[in-house]
Amino acid sequence: MTDIFDRATEREEEMLADALAAQARRAGLAGKTVHDSARICRICDEAIPELRRCALPGVQTCIDCQTELEHAA
Ligand SMILES: [Zn+2]
Repeated sequence: MTDIFDRATEREEEMLADALAAQARRAGLAGKTVHDSARICRICDEAIPELRRCALPGVQTCIDCQTELEHAA
């Protein structure tokens, strides 16, 4: 149950990320370097969505790992 809910949320985040990334490209931001954000999560090696890298300059982890880190803190 929780698992299904998590997946749906994740999918929504991905779709939002794609939409905002496309918007950023249209606004001419695509050529700009995303401030040293990692393309791959340093913890689990999953790809980090472009929006996440744009929204959080310097981000090094994916949403899943970030959430776990926050819960652990
Ligand atoms: Zn990760």
